[in-house]
Amino acid sequence: MTEQREELRDTQVIVDLDKIEENMKLISRMAGTEISVMAVIKANGYGHGAVSIAPTLMKCGVKYLAVATLTEALELREIFPSYPLFILGYTPDRLLHHVVEKNITQTVFSLEQAQLLGSLAKGLNKPARVHIKVDTGFHRLGKEPSAAYADEICKICAVEHVEVEGIFSHLALVNEEENEKQYQTFCNFIEVLEHRGCEFKYKHIADSIATVDYPRYRMNMVRPGALIYGMRGFHIGFLPVQQALTFRTAIAQLHTVPKGEGVSYDYLWKASRDSIVATLPFGYADGYPRNLRDKGYVIVNGIKAPIVGVICMDQCMADVTDVPNVAVGMEAIIYGNGQDGSMTIEEAAKLAGTNKNDIIARIPARPPRKYISKNRF
Ligand SMILES: *Cc1c(COP(=O)(O)O)cnc(C)c1O
Repeated sequence: MTEQREELRDTQVIVDLDKIEENMKLISRMAGTEISVMAVIKANGYGHGAVSIAPTLMKCGVKYLAVATLTEALELREIFPSYPLFILGYTPDRLLHHVVEKNITQTVFSLEQAQLLGSLAKGLNKPARVHIKVDTGFHRLGKEPSAAYADEICKICAVEHVEVEGIFSHLALVNEEENEKQYQTFCNFIEVLEHRGCEFKYKHIADSIATVDYPRYRMNMVRPGALIYGMRGFHIGFLPVQQALTFRTAIAQLHTVPKGEGVSYDYLWKASRDSIVATLPFGYADGYPRNLRDKGYVIVNGIKAPIVGVICMDQCMADVTDVPNVAVGMEAIIYGNGQDGSMTIEEAAKLAGTNKNDIIARIPARPPRKYISKNRF
């Protein structure tokens, strides 16, 4: 076997590392020198491959690489022994020793968590680093600002061997009025805490959309995820980030389907004319939304070929009757940048009735990733 793993399958996720780098530089430049960037690479870097894109982000000088779970942090820590890592989510008490052992910065929202981290840190003879989470309305993680939570945070700040490095919240992005309410709630609470002697090096509330749309919410740290991958969810501001991902495959087989015959499970699509139907070796187990049946399409030889019939777990079919010189092995673009007529992530999200992050983050490990870069190869 001499092929690279990525060449062992025709269905591949191509990640343009130069685009990731350009996007990251645009974000850093927009943030400026006073604002630190926490680059969010949870869910395997939104499907792009966290471990493989991390060096590009590190090169751009991001302060932190952030993930959602301990498992994601440990995977990165194996490869990057010293780069600052942050866990945005909850880590159960029984697993907190890992974050201290591996120098991972943890989100906390209770004195009990901080005390446990403190005693683990003491035992391991190294500090535990945390950011405190405040719930300003989202009701996901963190506690709501209150006198009791203020007392609790003051106690957390006094726990030995625990370094409270930051405080953060998350916007629900309901509308401008609600955003402002959340932001003000957060700022007022920080003011109360600082008056009582708490200090926070980093204060942050902005995800990708807030970072671009609301400059004042950048505080002194921003947490972009989607932007890094070129997803343009903003609608007030603008940043010319570009989609870094292309999803492609190649035709496995061609069928001549006479008018009136059905294709795939339940024959839910029937040929309205004598047709040529291509079998494509990707399915919903490759993260392609199953509900794109009769909506999705691929680009073959520059022509739009509609996905026809039920999308199977590993394969689906496309009507390639109108594709000139269609042949087995011909490339089919599943998601592209749109310039070749291909379906963009944005369009896939719209057609599937979901959001862009869902479309990219759901692409599992099965299709191999292929990394391209003009600078490196
Ligand atoms: C996922 C996540 C982000 C990044 O969100 P994007 O919309 O992709 O920018 C930021 N903060 C928290 C807490 C998150 O969970």
